[in-house]
Amino acid sequence: MHAISKLIETFALTTAQRDRDQIDVSMARLLHDFVGAEKVTVYRLIDDNGTHRVEQRICIDACGREHAPPKQSLGELPALRGHAHWYECKLTLDPVHYQIGSTDRMGTVFALPGEQAAAGLIEVELGPNRECLQPRDVRMINGVLKLLGNHLAILDYGERDTLTGLLNRRTFDQSFGRIVEHNRIVGREGGAGRPAWFAIADIDLFKSINDRYGHLFGDDVLLLVARLMRQTFRDSDQLFRFGGEEFVIVLEGMQAEGAEAALERLRRRIAEYSFPQVGQVTISIGYTRIGPADPPVTCFDRADAALYYAKQHGRNQVRCHEALISGGQLEKRPESAADVELF
Ligand code: GH3
Ligand code: MG
Ligand code: MG
Repeated sequence: MHAISKLIETFALTTAQRDRDQIDVSMARLLHDFVGAEKVTVYRLIDDNGTHRVEQRICIDACGREHAPPKQSLGELPALRGHAHWYECKLTLDPVHYQIGSTDRMGTVFALPGEQAAAGLIEVELGPNRECLQPRDVRMINGVLKLLGNHLAILDYGERDTLTGLLNRRTFDQSFGRIVEHNRIVGREGGAGRPAWFAIADIDLFKSINDRYGHLFGDDVLLLVARLMRQTFRDSDQLFRFGGEEFVIVLEGMQAEGAEAALERLRRRIAEYSFPQVGQVTISIGYTRIGPADPPVTCFDRADAALYYAKQHGRNQVRCHEALISGGQLEKRPESAADVELF
């Protein structure tokens, strides 16, 4: 009984949180303590053009220590199909028991329910000389994860734009602060080689699409552009609808060439897509590197200046603020955060 009241108490604390990373950690701790597990690992499922990949988010070991693995590129992540117990759990949404490698230890994998299918998987591994989880515990955990899935769905509802399903502007400030903070920590630890990028994408001549085909077709274009964006970037990249036909993309852990290539891929993908009735639609993108002490507004200004340049120079193109400055096409503004940092 004590374990159950503690479970409910921890669950209440978990659902008081809004930060997904924090929720992952709390969820792992909750299961770790409830069953006295040797190891609990939380994974997210990522759709890689039809292939489901599995990204480890957090792992709690026997001593209760947290381990968050370094970010891997999409191609490096293991495929869901490569692990029979993961695959079965994702398909059935039921807990699946498995034997850990060639040991006599047992584990159970649970599905974290998402909007339509499983959003993630949670592995609970028991120490030596322990039997498989009891059916009663399995039911209890499954119930808690369903409630947690509901909590995440409600969070989603408040954080997302209703038309496109992308993150909304309200969500932006909070998550942007976290990115800058993360960037600062990574920089301090000597990992400044994996910076973050801030991009504004704006649909070209969208007003004339509305004028020619009507708002319903305009909305359809917004929806399809958002879908193409989701297909182009990783789940961990953050995509926002900032208003009207303007989108913000935040990319983390990429070199300059990687960011340019990803944004260019989006531009090309949209330009090559045949939109129903409307035909070709293009976007222009301006982007900038997020500095270690950048307030959102300075990032926005730099990306916006690059976007403005793209609009003035033929649209349907990707422009980098730093490249425009070093190429002499844009003038450096003294109030930019990069300068403030020097003092
Ligand atoms: P540019 O290439 O310079 O960006 O030209 P533009 O026509 O896209 O730019 P402008 O800012 O003049 O027009 C944006 C238009 O977007 C104006 C507004 O009618 C339309 N719009 C804003 N929000 C929505 C929406 O939610 N749905 C639809 N259908 N249209 C919207
Ligand atoms: Mg526009
Ligand atoms: Mg606009």
